[in-house]
Amino acid sequence: MQAVPTGVGPRRLLGRIRDVMAGEASAQAKLDKVVQIIAAGMVAEVCSVYILRAGEVLELFATKGLRRRAVHQTRLRVGEGLVGEIAAHAQPLALDDAQSHPAFAYRPETGEEAYRSLMGVPILRSGRVAGVLVVQNKLARTYSDEEIEAMQITAMVLAELVASGDLVNPGERAPAEGNALLPIRLDGMSLNGGMAMGTAVIHQPDVAIRQVVAEDPEVELIRLNEAVEAVHRELDRLFGRGELAAAGEHHDVLEAYRMVASDAGWIGRIEDAIRSGLTAEAGVQQVREHTRARMSQITDPYLRERLDDMEDLSLRLLQQLAGAANGTTARELPDDVVLVARSVGPAELLDYDPARLRGLIMERGSATAHVSIVARALDIPVIGQIKDLFSRVDAGDTVIVDAENRQVFVRPVEDVQQSFHETLRLRAERRQAFAQLRDLPAVTLDGTEVSLNINAGLELDVPQVHSTGADGIGLFRTEIPFMVRAAYPDVAAQTALYRAVLDQAEGKPVVFRTLDVGGDKDLPYFESEAGENPALGWRAIRIALDRPAMLRQQVRALVRAADGRSLSIMFPMIAEVAEFAHARKVVEMELAREKTAGRTLPEKLSVGAMVEVPSLLWQLPSLVERVDFLSVGSNDLLQFLFATDRGNPRMSERYDPLSPPVLRVLRDLARTADKAGVPLSLCGEMASRPLEAMALVGLGYRTMSLTSSSMGPVKTMVRSLRLRPLADYMRSILDSPEHSLRDRLRAFAQDHDVIL
Ligand code: PEP
Ligand code: MG
Repeated sequence: MQAVPTGVGPRRLLGRIRDVMAGEASAQAKLDKVVQIIAAGMVAEVCSVYILRAGEVLELFATKGLRRRAVHQTRLRVGEGLVGEIAAHAQPLALDDAQSHPAFAYRPETGEEAYRSLMGVPILRSGRVAGVLVVQNKLARTYSDEEIEAMQITAMVLAELVASGDLVNPGERAPAEGNALLPIRLDGMSLNGGMAMGTAVIHQPDVAIRQVVAEDPEVELIRLNEAVEAVHRELDRLFGRGELAAAGEHHDVLEAYRMVASDAGWIGRIEDAIRSGLTAEAGVQQVREHTRARMSQITDPYLRERLDDMEDLSLRLLQQLAGAANGTTARELPDDVVLVARSVGPAELLDYDPARLRGLIMERGSATAHVSIVARALDIPVIGQIKDLFSRVDAGDTVIVDAENRQVFVRPVEDVQQSFHETLRLRAERRQAFAQLRDLPAVTLDGTEVSLNINAGLELDVPQVHSTGADGIGLFRTEIPFMVRAAYPDVAAQTALYRAVLDQAEGKPVVFRTLDVGGDKDLPYFESEAGENPALGWRAIRIALDRPAMLRQQVRALVRAADGRSLSIMFPMIAEVAEFAHARKVVEMELAREKTAGRTLPEKLSVGAMVEVPSLLWQLPSLVERVDFLSVGSNDLLQFLFATDRGNPRMSERYDPLSPPVLRVLRDLARTADKAGVPLSLCGEMASRPLEAMALVGLGYRTMSLTSSSMGPVKTMVRSLRLRPLADYMRSILDSPEHSLRDRLRAFAQDHDVIL
């Protein structure tokens, strides 16, 4: 492959483009000149500009190197060909062999077949694609990161020309076009539950950069410095706000964010870019583009979140710099805002008035992303991972966010809006009805008490034990706080966390599950060895037993946090009795150590196992002799019983938890535990659904742990149920060979007035 010498540096290239822009010529003439300059500057045989027109069409507007007659003739749809690909993903593309790329689309009128390599970048305006800038070379050429960055900076300048409206009437891309008005439904991943309806507000992360080349770098460095300080002041104000004042993991998140804002390496890179001749804005933008390019290659969730933070902070800096120059004013927001974004940083979310913010939908995002955690603190539904969201929703569209069903309705027809209004009204009514149940016991009509507990994983979740009237926390997933932290929490940090949980639970029991990490639950600072089947890999108790220091530290922190109070510890993914015995020994060693050190031991210590690996089902007699309690992890147990990945949406409906094999396994387990006098609960998602919970009660389960939002519906079910006829009925159907007993159980509920 041939190494091609790079042309002039970005500074000189931009200087020349700026001279053209400042001239008197028409916009088209300027564009024609600019492609010549870029082709020469980038040492490319071809440079072309495509501009997005109505109907999602990219039209060739200017070229140096392709056939002239193709200008204004060649048109590609977004997503079609390599140019369409760049527009669809709003990402640069650099290929040394363009024609072997699957998206390559040959257009005979352009004469493109002569060119082997291609590099293109999107022309972005306000975060949206306005066009594509491309260079091509005859020979195979590897474009360097610096060259891609230079093109991105050039595209920033072109964006201004497009925005001027002299090339394409800006009204042409208004949403009143064809498909844009049709109602659509988009699917994504629920990152925080709930439902909302509102008006789409596009989170516009891009600030127009008017000047790219600096007159005086020293002045620009001072401007940068002032902007950095202003951002710090702003963060102090945002993070100190009332609804965020309470302690919780979001504090860790916000603190980590603040650390990024002070990161000397990041600021240093921006300063270097300024010293190379860019304005402060262009310097920030250059480092931002570089970060984005890195981000696309990074899969590590922690690093991605750090880079997301940097993206968020870059934008803040740009806004500061632009604001200082333009005196920007706060935007008018509708009363009910559904924020539409590629991604949003935690601080950016806080820029929107929480009194108006109803929901958040994003192209990116994960459940542990910092913004999801902050959104949880604000209690707004969030759906992420929505493909091509940005090109399918326009500002002002009515949007329904249904995070319960992982879907978004855009521009819903009147009927859908009406029925959604009705759903929201009913939900509000039900919530009120559930609130009235809060202090009533979960007891069946024939007097059997069922203990209902909640699942938690963040300190933020703990107050719900009181607001829902739960008996306690039946599963505290300790790995979640580990996952949102920047570094492994030492014993002191863990002690503080567990103490806060116990303090807030105010004496209600909490079952702490030891770290269930590894596999797909990666800790950023812990080297994982996921293997090809992470769920079956080195995870949970397997890591704990191989690295006993981790388990010992966790137990030490739990004992210290309990400080004489009762303590329950549960081990995940136990596959054999020997593993449980070994883990229990580690706990005992730690207790002995704490005792010798003169610390107060828990007044009562219960050590239990999760039943989620099927092998354990054949070791129950010896297991029940050694455990203080058992808890079924139905999420994992079902995935292992049916050999179906619990995270694979294609498989999620294939097998039913309410099928005879599952129910028989659960029944046998309940019988064995009952006979041995060992307390048994179920803490997987199964307990959170009223019909499934009804079946569990029918099989003998008297303790369940559920998502807090399910407390109301499940308690309502229990209080409307007569246990005796249900238990009799279930006995009569469990041997059925059917695929599922769901319909039968639903019919039973209907016939017996059980409220589901
Ligand atoms: C389960 O597997 O059912 C469970 C409760 O644990 P997790 O969902 O955290 O794996
Ligand atoms: Mg599990």
